[in-house]
Amino acid sequence: MHSLDFVDNFGFLPFRRKQVKANRRGRPGLRPHLSLRFNFGDSILDFHVDSSKGSDFQDPSSYYNFFNLITHAHSDHYGQNNMNNSNAVASVETANILRVLTGKEFKGRCFSVGDSIKLDGIKIKTYPTEHIFGSSAFLIKSDSRILITGDVKDYSKLPKCDVLITEATYGNSDHIFEEEVEKLIECAKNSVFGVYPVGKAQRTAKILIENGFDVCGEDKISNLCSIFDIEVKNLDAEDGDVTLVSPRNVYQYAGRKFILTAQKFYRVPRIVISDHLDFIGILEMIDHCNPEHVIFYHGSPSKSLIDEISDEKKVSLLKDLEKLPG
Ligand SMILES: [Zn+2]
Ligand SMILES: [Zn+2]
Repeated sequence: MHSLDFVDNFGFLPFRRKQVKANRRGRPGLRPHLSLRFNFGDSILDFHVDSSKGSDFQDPSSYYNFFNLITHAHSDHYGQNNMNNSNAVASVETANILRVLTGKEFKGRCFSVGDSIKLDGIKIKTYPTEHIFGSSAFLIKSDSRILITGDVKDYSKLPKCDVLITEATYGNSDHIFEEEVEKLIECAKNSVFGVYPVGKAQRTAKILIENGFDVCGEDKISNLCSIFDIEVKNLDAEDGDVTLVSPRNVYQYAGRKFILTAQKFYRVPRIVISDHLDFIGILEMIDHCNPEHVIFYHGSPSKSLIDEISDEKKVSLLKDLEKLPG
């Protein structure tokens, strides 16, 4: 569906921001992810989703404002680019993770996941997605209900909506998996686990501590865990039963090693622990939220996923959306 059809059917314009200056290849680059534009009389309000900081709109005849909605603290969702942006909006936990990662204070507006907020008169309710600590979905309640999920691990608390703007990290039918939490516990003693420091490390450390393990980890991991009162000792200072390190450092350590992931491209053995829905999970989430239209804004939806959904609903991808300067 063309972006303009969204205006007629749902009361907003989804679009991609085209950089005004040309990039190295001589073409204007596109800013990350997408933006949603709402028009009320002479005023224009943009929500930039997991994107670089918004800039002012060059039209003095109309009132203009923007907000950057940050779904979670992973770097590919651009929170770190919005630390100085007073119009950025993120959960308290996301802002805390970003502060530890960047060493800067988050200057935007914070909410607790589950809160309702009002941005320039538009009501937005936030929902947990259990992707990582602090991850949040945003339900924009305007002429229609527009749900922006970010990355999702558990869709069960998400509401119904008219337009679902979501991810497809595991959007291929090869990606069907069950988590291996029991294997994680069985293999933990004296092992080195490769885990993403943001998100996976906190979840894994929590599971291990609840099961009686003494956990140590790299600096970055112990610092991030301490935000949430999860005690991970610094491995330079103290030993533990199990060691958490970044996946790319795992090869440097001696002993038994595993990577905790659903991805298949690592050389060391893996234990399936994922922060995402699998292929079936994505389809179930769409059933659960029951939108008329799905926009995949992150990850890689396969043709089989799109075909599966298109029987009953409309599907758009980022490449289908209008490109506007911004
Ligand atoms: Zn993520
Ligand atoms: Zn992501």
